[in-house]
Amino acid sequence: MMYADIIVDISHEKLDRSFQYRVPQELESQIHIGMVVSIPFGNGNHERRGYVIGLSREPKLAPVKIKPFKEICSSEETTEEKLIALAAWMKERYGSTMAQALKTVLPVREKVKSKEKRYVLLNIDREEALALAQNLEKGRCKARARLLRALCEEPKLDYTRASKELGMTAAVIAPLVEQGLVHIQQDEIYRIPIEEGSIPREKLSSLTEAQQEVLCQIQEEWQKETPRPVLIHGVTGSGKTQVYMKLIEQVVAQGKQVIVLIPEISLTYQTVRRFYGWFGDKVSVLNSRLSMGERYDQFRRAKRGEIQIMVGPRSALFTPFSNLGLIIIDEEHEQTYKSENSPRYHAREVAVQRAAQEGAHVVLGSATPSLEAYSRAVSGEYLLTKLTARFEDRPLPEVSVVDLREELKAGNRSILSRKLKGSLEKRLRNNEQSILFLNRRGYAGFVSCRSCGEALKCPHCDVALTEHNNGKLVCHYCGYERPRVEQCPSCGSPYIGGFKAGTQQIEQVLHKTFPKARVLRMDYDTTRNKGSYEQILSSFAAHEADILVGTQMIVKGHDFPDVTLVGAVAADLSLNAADYRCAERTFQLLTQAVGRSGRGNKPGEAVIQTYHPEHYSIQTAATQDYEAFYREEMSYRLLMDYPPAAHMLSILAAGEDEELLSQGMDYLGRFVERIGEKYHLHVIGPAYASVGKINDVYHKVIYLKHQEERVLMDIKDKAEKYIEVNSGFRKLYIQFDYS
Ligand code: ADP
Ligand code: ZN
Ligand code: ZN
Repeated sequence: MMYADIIVDISHEKLDRSFQYRVPQELESQIHIGMVVSIPFGNGNHERRGYVIGLSREPKLAPVKIKPFKEICSSEETTEEKLIALAAWMKERYGSTMAQALKTVLPVREKVKSKEKRYVLLNIDREEALALAQNLEKGRCKARARLLRALCEEPKLDYTRASKELGMTAAVIAPLVEQGLVHIQQDEIYRIPIEEGSIPREKLSSLTEAQQEVLCQIQEEWQKETPRPVLIHGVTGSGKTQVYMKLIEQVVAQGKQVIVLIPEISLTYQTVRRFYGWFGDKVSVLNSRLSMGERYDQFRRAKRGEIQIMVGPRSALFTPFSNLGLIIIDEEHEQTYKSENSPRYHAREVAVQRAAQEGAHVVLGSATPSLEAYSRAVSGEYLLTKLTARFEDRPLPEVSVVDLREELKAGNRSILSRKLKGSLEKRLRNNEQSILFLNRRGYAGFVSCRSCGEALKCPHCDVALTEHNNGKLVCHYCGYERPRVEQCPSCGSPYIGGFKAGTQQIEQVLHKTFPKARVLRMDYDTTRNKGSYEQILSSFAAHEADILVGTQMIVKGHDFPDVTLVGAVAADLSLNAADYRCAERTFQLLTQAVGRSGRGNKPGEAVIQTYHPEHYSIQTAATQDYEAFYREEMSYRLLMDYPPAAHMLSILAAGEDEELLSQGMDYLGRFVERIGEKYHLHVIGPAYASVGKINDVYHKVIYLKHQEERVLMDIKDKAEKYIEVNSGFRKLYIQFDYS
């Protein structure tokens, strides 16, 4: 006998409720996951339609109690069916529940609200509102004060956002409404995220010879019976985007649809504008700032065939297009393509899977491909194409590596090396722009003792606290705060202080060193408000400042033609992370950063400050030599059996009871060791995760390494069953993670 798990309703809340039905014998050979079948449902046995989300030979009730379903209704595969099949694949591949996978894949169908609530400020101006907020704070009406302050920043505040992010409730708001200070407005929402009519259409420019060559190679591949995914390895500014656009144009002309994934951070107004300029109302753009309703509307438009191109971050991958032709993943190496929630999927892998299921193509692009993608391209699993020169042969910037140890020896204790200072001076003299970046946020980074070396840590999270401008030490995981300390809590030494390398610190040094320079700072603190990110970028693009200081977010994907100097202030910050990918991350970050310089007509320069000038990731970033980096890094991965040289599966567990967690993970560790013995499985741990404790929840991890993915899949399945049947794991939250 065969049984089918069936969901009746694909609205979001109902996805974890499936019902088992018997598969009529004659249909056993035809049925597969995703199909629509008609079932007798409820007490009256009314006929309903349901989706098959799982098939098995094991009945969940006494077999006589399980009703058979009637028939298969699918005539041709609907979009939902394909997405449900994709979810089933993700469940298997990443070890999540089917409900989690379905929620990731199916467009959220919430009750469509044609009206959405918003606040508006009423009858008082900003100054008054702020004064009132101050009073309310004194009177301990903090929530009300918070709302007023938020409204000063954003006069139309979204109702759901306010209740989520500010913790507002109706009771908090009511008095303000009664006093006539705040008014809840019922707005008809016109849910198109950008008014595309206002953007003039542009023609695509014709391709250069090199770009044309890449286009031809791709088209040739697409003629084949089983086309492979394509990787475009193109240096920054070589025109990968131009190639994407031609491909999109062609696929759309064939009546098919295109999904373009772009890292969230690059989804700027500039990017969006370009897409609307080229494709007008054929295109829609998703980003995380859209409300659920807006997102759902865009998915609905896609399903109805009103748009042909969806641009967005990771989640746009699940756009319910009915005739998908192409998936493009720009900046394929970006970490944001990996989901941190179960199913912990990677967009690249899911894209390849979805494309295979639906007969679509995949094109990946990057100046610094991930080791995963590049090794597949080298082995021939992907087609490798290259753009080795910048558009119009603009030269790559001249790069200097500055050894900070030498600076110290020469008596220079400033954050700015002599080299970087000189280069900045030159830019200011010539009225050119510079970017200085730091892989860190906050004022002065962590605080440590110069006598014993201890860093001040959050008592709940086991991570270093960050010193902020107001003198407080803050935990960036849970928000814990404590006042500054005068003495080291461990040894009593008075020599305690910050690691002087925050973005605010750099800003201050710049003000002192170059009093006339106009400096803009962009980091987490200055971009918390909606729109401020865009404001800073456009102000810098309009040359309203000479120097832009920021965290790594400023070096990703922006095009500032007047920037001729990029400085990496402390390149080592990312090199010291406890992660086997830290050299790769450092190389990528530095290469992308260097690529920001000299994008216009004037040649560029880059300065990398570091304590490890001899490290290969710094050396190869300086020479922009990807292949050399790849060889070094791959030999390290081979030596250590790290991906992509081997496959790695992490078992992540979290629990409030440390004892219980440790016990459970010890058992699990021994279990996987035992069943993995015959495969010579490599088991590491259990150990505390790199952040061992977040918000009083403990985290432990076991890593499994093996040459064959199949072996890890098998172990994962067995471990899942083991966890399910042993009550010791009930209070633990366990996830699997492929890397
Ligand atoms: P990438 O995506 O590889 O970083 P872009 O596609 O953004 O590169 O191109 C870099 C710059 O060169 C852009 O300003 C772009 O307009 C210009 N460019 C590239 N190729 C062409 C072309 N064929 N015609 C006109 N401009 C081009
Ligand atoms: Zn100390
Ligand atoms: Zn904390």
